[in-house]
Amino acid sequence: MEQRRNHLYFFYKHDEQLKKQVEPLIKIAEQNHFVVVDDHRKANIIVSIGDDGSFLQAVRQSGFRDDCLYAGISTLPSRGFYCDFHIDDTDHMVEAMTHEQIEVRKYPIIQVTIDDTASFFCLNECSIRSGIIKTFVMDVFIDDLHFETFRGDGIIVATPTGSTAYNKSVNGAVVDPLLPCIQVSELASLNNNRYRTLGSSFILSGQRKLTLKISPDGNHYPIIGMDNEALSIQHIEKIEISLSSRIVKTVRLKDNSFWEKVKRTFL
Ligand code: NAP
Ligand code: MN
Repeated sequence: MEQRRNHLYFFYKHDEQLKKQVEPLIKIAEQNHFVVVDDHRKANIIVSIGDDGSFLQAVRQSGFRDDCLYAGISTLPSRGFYCDFHIDDTDHMVEAMTHEQIEVRKYPIIQVTIDDTASFFCLNECSIRSGIIKTFVMDVFIDDLHFETFRGDGIIVATPTGSTAYNKSVNGAVVDPLLPCIQVSELASLNNNRYRTLGSSFILSGQRKLTLKISPDGNHYPIIGMDNEALSIQHIEKIEISLSSRIVKTVRLKDNSFWEKVKRTFL
């Protein structure tokens, strides 16, 4: 039998108000035989407190671990996409903590490799945008096929759970996280008789690799966004994106499937 996960780390912004809200949670956890640790590396459950942005940061700063369980507690009126719990709803938290057969949800993540050297993970998306007012040119490859030459503001490559974030606001499709895939969406592409792109979002299987080769003319300062963090690397030539073999595991509450969240958030 798997050893009981009971080393808990709370990830939150240490301001006075949040500290006060977290204190009773620590007590409840300890009463339920959890050990609250002060270093996320010693934890096998990592709980973010805040909003979806805090959850993204908790996963990023702890290194996208696939040997631990993540959970999000929302301090906003609504729970959001990565937060299954609300800070005032301690009953549900205790139920989830003590329940023997917690259901675990598995979220695909993408791996981004820059110039064959630096590698990063994203839970929502990787976005590549021009850092200057001029348009930005990239050659887009699907596996080894040169697919199109993009000219415009940029491109968003989203995971299934990230499909409801930035991707959705540019009319991308909402994707079921049970499908291991990545979605590519354009940001204001220039389309005329000289430049042509597909013009719609497209979804690639988890087996494929997307390569973006950045044209050197005038594009020395692309902004690379990894979820809610910007990466400042200059003179990038090549960005390779594929689905990672890693996944992020989160606690799954009953009656809170992905599509229930979509309905609750958007409809
Ligand atoms: P933010 O700019 O403070 O918030 C962006 C909004 O997106 C927030 O309402 C956030 O929820 C929500 N969000 C985050 N992940 C989501 C998801 N997977 N599904 C649905 N909504 C989601 O930034 P943030 O809170 O740190 O979140 C970072 C994300 O913002 C990025 O990964 C990107 O997807 C998104 N973003 C969207 C746009 C756009 O739609 N035009 C532009 C830039 C970035 P919370 O309020 O619960 O945090
Ligand atoms: Mn936010």
